[in-house]
Amino acid sequence: MLEVITGGMFAGKTDELLRRLERHCIARRRVALIKPELDTRTTKVRTHNGKEFDSITVGPKDRAAVEQIIKENDVIGFDEAEFFSTEIYQLLKEYEQSGTEKVFIACGLDMDSEGEPFGIMPALMAIASDVTKLHAVCENCFVPANISFSVVEKKGQILIGGKDKYKALCWRCATIEKEKRKRDA
Ligand SMILES: [Zn+2]
Repeated sequence: MLEVITGGMFAGKTDELLRRLERHCIARRRVALIKPELDTRTTKVRTHNGKEFDSITVGPKDRAAVEQIIKENDVIGFDEAEFFSTEIYQLLKEYEQSGTEKVFIACGLDMDSEGEPFGIMPALMAIASDVTKLHAVCENCFVPANISFSVVEKKGQILIGGKDKYKALCWRCATIEKEKRKRDA
């Protein structure tokens, strides 16, 4: 069964992922957490408030490595799932369509900082049995935030960072900030 936890940054997605994984650990299921190899080499997944969980880092296209981890575990979490490639989406789809008893929990950004659907997340959400969408609070007007707005110039869809590079904004405030940036440029 595939569960998806999605939404913007600072919404508590990773906290929710770790909470779900810990429940399965308590029930003595074999639990693994996978994250894509990007610019970081850390082997722990950390939430913004300091909680951590050991993880295995794999190449975003490394189907064989992910398949091996799935075979050896009952519950498999995927952090930063937006960065995994379509090979990994295909693999999860094959498992789901085979009626697997494995539990997959994919956690990732629904949209990039421009508000575009991010990587394989829309596809994962489509085939998931359960989708949880979490929201941060807009830092300008305090309604539920829609996107993780990049406060620095970035090239391409991938810019790794936290509060130093992103802030949570609703659509309206993001549009206002974008226009302001255009005027200042
Ligand atoms: Zn706002």
